[in-house]
Amino acid sequence: MKEIKVSIRVRGQVQGVGFRPFVWQLAQAFGLRGRVWNDAEGVRIEAAGADLAGFAAALSARAPKLARVDAVEVSPFAGSLPEGFEIATSRGRGAKTRVTPDAATCPDCAAEIREAGRRQGYAFTNCTHCGPRFSILNGLPYDRAQTTMAAFAMCADCRAEYGDPTDRRFHAQPVACPACGPRLWYEAGGQEMPGDPFALAVACLRAGGVVAVKGLGGFHLACDATNPAALALLRARKRRPSKPFAVMVPEADLAVLAEVTAADLALLRDAAAPVVLVPSRGALPEAVAPGMASLGVMLPYTPLHHLLLDAFAGPLVMTSGNLSGEPQVIGNDEARDKLAGFVDGVLLHDREIARRLDDSVERAAPPMILRRARGRVPGTLPLPPGFEDAPQVLALGGQMKGAICLVKTGQALLGHHLGDLDDALCADEFSRAVADYTALFDHRPALVAVDAHPGYRATQAGFAMGLPVAEVWHHHAHLASCLAENGWPLDGGKVAGIVLDGTGLGPDGTLWGGEVLLGDYHGFERRHWLKPAPLVGGDRAAQQPWRNALARLDQAGLSDWADQLFPNAPRDLLRQAAAKGINAPMSSSAGRMFDAVAACLGICPEAQSYEGEAAMRLEALASRCPAEDGGGYELGQTGKMLDPTPIWTAIRDDLARGTQACLIAQRFQTGLGLAFAGAARRLVEAGDARAVVLSGGCFQNVGLLGAVLWGLGDTPVLIHRTTPANDGGLALGQAVIAAARAFSGAESA
Ligand code: ZN
Ligand code: ZN
Ligand code: FE
Repeated sequence: MKEIKVSIRVRGQVQGVGFRPFVWQLAQAFGLRGRVWNDAEGVRIEAAGADLAGFAAALSARAPKLARVDAVEVSPFAGSLPEGFEIATSRGRGAKTRVTPDAATCPDCAAEIREAGRRQGYAFTNCTHCGPRFSILNGLPYDRAQTTMAAFAMCADCRAEYGDPTDRRFHAQPVACPACGPRLWYEAGGQEMPGDPFALAVACLRAGGVVAVKGLGGFHLACDATNPAALALLRARKRRPSKPFAVMVPEADLAVLAEVTAADLALLRDAAAPVVLVPSRGALPEAVAPGMASLGVMLPYTPLHHLLLDAFAGPLVMTSGNLSGEPQVIGNDEARDKLAGFVDGVLLHDREIARRLDDSVERAAPPMILRRARGRVPGTLPLPPGFEDAPQVLALGGQMKGAICLVKTGQALLGHHLGDLDDALCADEFSRAVADYTALFDHRPALVAVDAHPGYRATQAGFAMGLPVAEVWHHHAHLASCLAENGWPLDGGKVAGIVLDGTGLGPDGTLWGGEVLLGDYHGFERRHWLKPAPLVGGDRAAQQPWRNALARLDQAGLSDWADQLFPNAPRDLLRQAAAKGINAPMSSSAGRMFDAVAACLGICPEAQSYEGEAAMRLEALASRCPAEDGGGYELGQTGKMLDPTPIWTAIRDDLARGTQACLIAQRFQTGLGLAFAGAARRLVEAGDARAVVLSGGCFQNVGLLGAVLWGLGDTPVLIHRTTPANDGGLALGQAVIAAARAFSGAESA
């Protein structure tokens, strides 16, 4: 049989996932000779043999667990090949290819650290199928020398595994063992303590202390999740009175704490190992997640976490190690310096964290990503049809939940959660992320996309770059982000976008946030919106729910009731400011409507201790009643405006009747959802829109999402599943809108 020679290009998530050893083993099985190596575009293979078609098919069909093969391109090859099959060294720097996100400890490694052997009890055990990736990466292509593992020279045993194609550590870049790899220790009072670091940490935790734990993408603050005193101590020290804490739980204990479905469990066990929101059974103290019906749980995702939980034998709060609002701490000295006042001890190690990656926060059903970071980034998204030749675009996102997006070679890379850029340190983090991502991915943007709000730090940073700037309206970006995530073609036609969020600047100079937009990537018009009300005090209206309630109740002619509800608030001052329009911008924000209703029901009327608290508590309250059939408070319609005036009388009457607060909360959510669904549905029925798109932070609310979907019936609808509906997804929308403009500019030129 004549030997045929081919060159094969494999594109996708194929580096740092054991792809070359997989190819090597496959080549042995197919009796091929040739070579495989990593390069700037992915994996290249040159091979000769009989069944090359079968080999090429098996490349995607049998790919390793963490790999994602997007394309296998086969072309003839005429060069010389070695007698056997070899793994050649990486060629070229460049970085068109993808890096794998960090992956949770695999079952083999989890078992290995609990068995007799040289890695028993070793906190940095990993293999080709698991372990740190993006969090240790300094440059591409992904090789040990380009990671923070470069500082550790492999011992002979590890080197043997690394070089053995039949070993599960063959070419596993972060391979390590106690003889050669990172070291773990425990510090208290700035001193390293002698003894087993896990035993020392656990003794402190059992005694109700707070321990800082250096993890994968940053430090956590840990405490005993079952100990009310420890929780109170952590909340007091962190000055975080009520924002929910995430809890790390051994899988065996999950069912006691939460109602976990098969879908939840699958998501918890995913290599991304996110924090998953699940219904709480109320087994933990209220202080873990005050006012919430759900609990954010995650499974241990590094060997360090497995060993810590084994030793502790119970659930641990694992909240990000930072000062409130600031970015998570990643450096050892930074931790000693900044966290000293928070903690009684620190579990430290000497493997550096190359970049800060918070835990991702997700829901399994309906699937949604609330915070996209560790384990998900830097996963990429193929751009929709029509965007294949998009120029390189850098999109900078919004002010809250900062995240940037890079467009290159038909892919969009949505960067990790950076926090709220109001905080100066988060803004620094943002600047570093722009430099980091553009360097790492060899990105040379032709244009920068920014939010049209001139006050956003990201917008200002964009204008300072000296590149052409595409300004994008906030709610248009939300709409486009959902279109792009769903692969809606560049010229796929117009959709009705229901965009419900906090606030964003609209083209008319008011703050939008409760919109039905008719549009696509190219443009939009505002077809319906929530009747605006003043945000008296500007930013303070976002922090103090009673301000929104007062404005709405006055608007509805229910000032007397407002006087009863908020007897001690400075109502006169507010009313004067509203009447004169002093620092009282008009807004159609749905988020502020949630705040207003929450305040009327006594949910943190005076102040929210974290962004979204009132709305999250209202959602939790609504979920405590069995769902009513239909129902919901009806909104009025005044021209194109959806008018909430009737809601307020209905709430007052329901309260007077002694209706349960959870039902009132539910009727509000349902009514609001049905009103917007109806308006959008009519645009589809009239033939103006081809589908409905749901975006904006309010769609993290499962009750509201459910009401809108129910109201839409069989109308085609697109929702967010893998990118955040909140402002964390904004940059993706900005990027595709800027790309669409670049195309239409090219056409008209
Ligand atoms: Zn492993
Ligand atoms: Zn070793
Ligand atoms: Fe928004």
